[in-house]
Amino acid sequence: MIFLKCVAEGEGWECDREVKYHAKMLCGAHYQQANSGKVLVAARPRSYPNSICAARNSHELAGEGYGEWECLSPRKSREWCAAHYGQLRGTNRIGYLRPIRKYKDYRSDGSKKRCISCELVKPNSEYYKHDKSADGLKRDCARCNWTYNLKRRFNITPQQYADILAFQNAGCAICGRDSSADGKRLAIDHFHGCCQVNGGSCGKCIRGLLCTSCNTMLGKYETLPSRFQDSLHLNSYISNPPARQLNQVASERAFRPVVSS
Ligand SMILES: [Zn+2]
Ligand SMILES: [Zn+2]
Ligand SMILES: [Zn+2]
Ligand SMILES: [Zn+2]
Ligand SMILES: [Zn+2]
Ligand SMILES: [Zn+2]
Repeated sequence: MIFLKCVAEGEGWECDREVKYHAKMLCGAHYQQANSGKVLVAARPRSYPNSICAARNSHELAGEGYGEWECLSPRKSREWCAAHYGQLRGTNRIGYLRPIRKYKDYRSDGSKKRCISCELVKPNSEYYKHDKSADGLKRDCARCNWTYNLKRRFNITPQQYADILAFQNAGCAICGRDSSADGKRLAIDHFHGCCQVNGGSCGKCIRGLLCTSCNTMLGKYETLPSRFQDSLHLNSYISNPPARQLNQVASERAFRPVVSS
């Protein structure tokens, strides 16, 4: 069969679809455009120079916010791979092409793997263990996992954490111990009288960053009857904590003076 090309063309484009309505030598899309009295505009090209799926971030139908990507799957329906054809059929709307994530692309090769969140390839050692996954590791890297938990449990960003840490000269706010001494991050201490959001904080009542032993000790100290809460050092931390000094706009409510029975 001979391929008859649609005759529709305009400034900077030329239709490359096959003729469907021979009387007018137009493809289906342009026949419809012509019938409804519209000025002919370019239809999505049907033919691409190769057999690879046409989906990529630069495509006119691509959704935004996925960074730079291109699909390398073989073409199945029109110019799309099966998955992208499904995406377009499923949404039936423009602007929804997005990268297809194949979990095997995010599986460890034995020594490194791609993070599902930041998309960076990092060594296995930068992932937390996860028994239930095929490669025994979590899907997001430790850094992304921490970022996610900071937001979820304490409502702050890594930058806010870093700001408080720098304000405390990189040490525990009570004993001054170097934060990196035991390779563990300092714990986030907050005023428990304010809130218990997800077992964490609303973000406004964060007081400072403490080493594990100071954090535990302070927790016990605050449950003592008030007449035993007589440490000037601890009381000054509680009444004017570093995170509040750093961020004077923090709500007063978040730092009500501790009233113990
Ligand atoms: Zn056409
Ligand atoms: Zn595709
Ligand atoms: Zn990551
Ligand atoms: Zn400490
Ligand atoms: Zn706490
Ligand atoms: Zn709070």
